[in-house]
Amino acid sequence: MPLVSTRQLLDEAAKGGYGVGAFNVNDMEQIQAIMEAAKETNSPVIIQASRGARAFAQDNYLFHLILAANELYPEIPIAMHLDHGNSFETCVSAIKLGYSSVMMDGSLKEDGKTPASFEENVAITKKVVDYAHERGVAVEGEIGVLGGIEDGHGAGGSGLDHVTDPDQAVEFAEKTGVDSLAIAIGTSHGAYKFTKKPDGSVLKMDLLIAIHKRLPKTHLVMHGSSSVPKDLQDIINQYGGKLKETWGVPVEEIQLGIKNGVRKINVDTDNRLAITGAIRKVFAESPEKFDPRDYMKPARAAMQKVVAQRMVQFGQAGHAGDYKAISIADMAKGYKDGSLSTRPLVAAK
Ligand SMILES: [Zn+2]
Repeated sequence: MPLVSTRQLLDEAAKGGYGVGAFNVNDMEQIQAIMEAAKETNSPVIIQASRGARAFAQDNYLFHLILAANELYPEIPIAMHLDHGNSFETCVSAIKLGYSSVMMDGSLKEDGKTPASFEENVAITKKVVDYAHERGVAVEGEIGVLGGIEDGHGAGGSGLDHVTDPDQAVEFAEKTGVDSLAIAIGTSHGAYKFTKKPDGSVLKMDLLIAIHKRLPKTHLVMHGSSSVPKDLQDIINQYGGKLKETWGVPVEEIQLGIKNGVRKINVDTDNRLAITGAIRKVFAESPEKFDPRDYMKPARAAMQKVVAQRMVQFGQAGHAGDYKAISIADMAKGYKDGSLSTRPLVAAK
C-alpha cells in the first residue's frame, strides 16, 4: 500500500480508542527494528525523522529506506513524518521528498531554540497547513514549548517553563487547521526528564485532560514520552556507561493520555538506550570482536523488543489490517471538498 497520512492513521486510532507510537530513525537498523516489531505485533506505524536525522543520514538514503520498508511490508500501514520542522522551507522539502506528514513546530523560532510568540506560531503553522493540505499531507502543530533539547532542537530548561494554555490551544486549533496538536504538559526531550518518579506537580496530566475536554475531537500528541526504564539504564551503567539516575514518562500516564485524546506518542530515547546498552554489553563481554554485525544485531533486537512492547502498551497492536491506505492524492481531494475538514469541535468551558 502507499505511505499513509498520519491523519488517516490517527483518525483510525481515534475510532479504535488507541494510541500510535511515533519512533525516530536515523539509520537502516532502526527502521528494520521498527518494521519487525510492527510485523510481530500487527501494528500500523509512524516512522519519523528530525532535521538532525535527515542531516545525519542524508535525505535520499533515509527516504529510500522507508520506501524499502513499504515494499517489504505491504500489509502494514506506514506513515513517514517530519519531526519538528523549524521553517516553511524545511516542511516543503520533506513534502517534496514524499513524506506523508510534517510537524511544523512554530512554538520556537526558526533557530529551533527561542520561544516564538503565539501570533508567529499561528502564522507559520497556517502557512504550512495551506501548502500541505493542498498536496494531501497532514500537519502537526505545537502549542506551548517542550523542555530539554534533542538533536540540537529545543528551548532547554524544564518542561514546566511554557506549558500549554487550554484557551490558547483552542484558538490555535481554530486558526491553523492542524490535523494534530502537540501540547506541553511538563515533559522534556532527551533522557533527563524528571529527577524522581513524576507526580502531578511536574507531569500535568490534569492539564492534558482539560485540553481534551475543550477539544474533544482533536488528535493530541505527546512529545518527550520515552519512559526511560530503569532496566535499560542499568544495562548501560553495568557495562561501563555513566548515566545519571533519571525518570521518564511512566507508561500508565501515557495510557491515561490515550484515554483522553492522545493519539500519537513520540518515543526516541528508550530506543537509543536499548541500542547503546546492547552494544556496550558486546564490547564488554567480547572485546575481541570487531565485526559491526556482532553488535548491530543485538542492538537491533534490543530496539525491536522495546518498540514491540510500546506498540502493545499503546494499543496499536493488532490494528494493521483494519484499513487500506488512502492515497495522498485522495487525501488532497478530501481536504478540498471538506470531508477532511480540520475545523475543531470546541466544547464550552
Ligand atoms: Zn518532540
